[in-house]
Amino acid sequence: MLNKPRLLTPGPTPLPEQVRLVMAQDMIHHRKADFKRIMEETQQRLRHLFGTVQPVLPLSCSGTGVMTAAVTNLFVPGEKVIVVDGGKFGERWAKIASGSGLTVVTLSVEWGHAVTPEQLQAALAEHPDTRGVLVQNSETSTGVLHPVRALASVTRALDVLLVVDGISSVGISPCPMDEWGVDCLLTGSQKGLMLPPGLGLIALSERAWKRAETITPPCFYFNLAGERENVRKNQTLFTSPVSLILGLNESLRMFMETGLETVYRKQWALTMLARTGIRRMGLDLLAPDHFTWGLTSVRLPDGVDGARLLEVAAERFGVFMAGGQDHLKGRAIRIGHMGWVDWADLAAGLHAVAESFRVCGGYIGARDYLEQGLQAYHEALDTGYGAL
Ligand SMILES: *Cc1c(COP(=O)(O)O)cnc(C)c1O
Repeated sequence: MLNKPRLLTPGPTPLPEQVRLVMAQDMIHHRKADFKRIMEETQQRLRHLFGTVQPVLPLSCSGTGVMTAAVTNLFVPGEKVIVVDGGKFGERWAKIASGSGLTVVTLSVEWGHAVTPEQLQAALAEHPDTRGVLVQNSETSTGVLHPVRALASVTRALDVLLVVDGISSVGISPCPMDEWGVDCLLTGSQKGLMLPPGLGLIALSERAWKRAETITPPCFYFNLAGERENVRKNQTLFTSPVSLILGLNESLRMFMETGLETVYRKQWALTMLARTGIRRMGLDLLAPDHFTWGLTSVRLPDGVDGARLLEVAAERFGVFMAGGQDHLKGRAIRIGHMGWVDWADLAAGLHAVAESFRVCGGYIGARDYLEQGLQAYHEALDTGYGAL
């Protein structure tokens, strides 16, 4: 009881009380009128969130399941795709695509950096038979934001589908798919959407649908054309994840009530709070320039063990954060600030980072990291995030 537990991980994220209460309801049947009413309302809200006139399809699976559905419904074995690989989740695209029999060209980007449209253009020139480009909007393992809008301006002029994993960006930073020319945008429930894990969401552009309509997916379960037919009837192809859909409808109601612009502005301001606070402590940010708005990755100096730091933060301060992955294991921490997290939660997180860092033998440069961070937060809330 000394500390409230605070979940500052890049998924799962904390749940608003309204969402938890809605999800505690008894079952309703997924083919009956009550459920269809909810689905219809949810569908309108989802289209607004995704920035599309196309249906947004709910799937019962984690984020990786939706990534798999995108690959197997949009491409056939032997076709070539370019995968932007700048971290764990880029790597995952490559594994899913090669596991599905596609020819994978890896466009490697140094961890902590974003791909450039010029790099993509060069890769496409070298591989003119490319059918699709698979990329993360937000690479959660490093905290990098790839420039999806600029990448789409390259692919939309060609017969190349741009498939975007928006699992840690949808509901966190803007990615209006129709306006930008994104061909497939997908996400999972447990990151920006303030829901438990287990629900995937995916939308295809008009030209992506044309492609999908020519393909018989190899797996019976992930059938996007079948899901689309059902969404038109306010249902899903198989038994719906009823509680998650009820929760989604409520969380989207909160998004609409607040307004998407305000939500993005808040996420931007939280990012400024985290980055300013971390820099003021004298620590290094892993993604120097192109950074995502839902988490902040921090590189630790030699001699400070990241795993130990996370343990201290959890035990003494009740703050749960994530560590680095692969070669950054123990060398970095990732502070999540997506979904139902506000400035006070994040201030608690920064304080836990600083104090745990000291316990682990680190040296904090300045003591006014919260004051500076909160000032940056308020300024960012006022000025907004500018053009993307
Ligand atoms: C969390 C995450 C995933 C994985 O989702 P699961 O729900 O664990 O399958 C994939 N891509 C990105 C960018 C993520 O942040």
